[in-house]
Amino acid sequence: MENFSGDNVYREKKSLHCDLCNKLLVDKEGKVKEEFLWTIRGLICSKHYESLDEISFKIYKRYNKGQKISESHSLFKPVKIS
Ligand SMILES: [Zn+2]
Repeated sequence: MENFSGDNVYREKKSLHCDLCNKLLVDKEGKVKEEFLWTIRGLICSKHYESLDEISFKIYKRYNKGQKISESHSLFKPVKIS
């Protein structure tokens, strides 16, 4: 039997959601379900991004539906702010 102690378990695999509407963007397999942008402010679905008038924050990358993101990608790790 496995010991599910919770706190000590680092869960690498997780789904990613839009920071504005919480829509699923990337599933646990790393597949992009919805076009989105990875920005300095977090993840934003393209629908939300286009509705923003002032685009004053940096975009790291744009992801298209159907793209696959590697599990080791930094998107799946906590963002380090320097
Ligand atoms: Zn959104």
